[in-house]
Amino acid sequence: MSYNPDNVFAKILRGEIPCTKVYEDDHVLAFHDINPQAPVHVLVIPKGAYVSVNDFTATASDAEIAALIRALGRLAAELGVAEDGYRILANVGANGHQEVPHLHVHLCGGRPLGRMLPKAD
Ligand code: AMP
Repeated sequence: MSYNPDNVFAKILRGEIPCTKVYEDDHVLAFHDINPQAPVHVLVIPKGAYVSVNDFTATASDAEIAALIRALGRLAAELGVAEDGYRILANVGANGHQEVPHLHVHLCGGRPLGRMLPKAD
């Protein structure tokens, strides 16, 4: 899938629509999810035009990859969920139910989150 610059997170990065920012550096922006699924629900995105983990891991620089991972750990601590625990996940493609085609990592916490996936029958 090629990158579509009209996606909502690209618009946030260009400042065309607002977000509630919680962190920013040269490579990363993090903001509150508009429809939170937990008391803490933040989206952490690269500033570069990457659709998903597929192209990010294949073509992003080491600096971009390190910045995203470091931001996750830093934000977990700053948002107060590091001790009690939290979940990070990135949905990819149709089977992953990815809705926005710009790589984003969900960071959720602040309550027990249950099993990662429903039990298969
Ligand atoms: P995914 O299914 O992993 O693609 O999740 C997309 C996420 O983006 C959902 O949790 C949405 O609530 C969130 N979202 C969509 N539009 C916005 C927005 N304008 N600001 C913040 N979060 C958004």
